[in-house]
Amino acid sequence: MHEFVVETHRKEELIDITSLVERALEGQGVCEGTCFVHSTHTTAGITINENADPTVAADLLGALAHVIPQGGSWRHREGNAPAHIKTSLVGATATVPIEAGHLVLGTWQGIFLCEFDGPRSRRVLVRVCS
Ligand code: ZN
Repeated sequence: MHEFVVETHRKEELIDITSLVERALEGQGVCEGTCFVHSTHTTAGITINENADPTVAADLLGALAHVIPQGGSWRHREGNAPAHIKTSLVGATATVPIEAGHLVLGTWQGIFLCEFDGPRSRRVLVRVCS
């Protein structure tokens, strides 16, 4: 198991961690297999989406904010109920195939850490199974 820490800088943001995950694969000697990328947090998830046009990430955050408004009548007293809900919707884990020692992603795909309650230090685990 490999891990790295991502320092987030905003309340909400999507951070492209694809190169960090690729770096975690290096030196593991896995030619073909499966890579699990996992956030250990309840208010930050992992998703795969377009990393070419940053408006896609902005639209995703905007859509989630529309569906799960900060001012909703939430029961969770900590004040970050929307962050918890958004994390469950995007999920805490992404699974990516590995071929020839590299992640198999589409041309426009990237792996994102989804910060919903930052800024914070976020721990990301990378587990490779051959
Ligand atoms: Zn909370």
